[in-house]
Amino acid sequence: MSRPVPQCPIRPGEPCTLCQAFVTGPEDCQTVKLVMEDDELREMLAVKRREYRERKNATGPRR
Ligand code: SF4
Repeated sequence: MSRPVPQCPIRPGEPCTLCQAFVTGPEDCQTVKLVMEDDELREMLAVKRREYRERKNATGPRR
């Protein structure tokens, strides 16, 4: 059985592509950590996630 692909926490709707050096996934990604530790960036991410959810709900699930 294949494992589910982890999603990138800071790019809503996109899988983790291991775009940062030396990462094994979102759990040890320093970029994600930086964003989550910064109030302003976390707020911007919340807006992006909300926009993504709204777009997804408007267009239905991807196939
Ligand atoms: S390495 Fe980090 S920034 Fe890159 S896709 Fe994965 S979780 Fe997102």
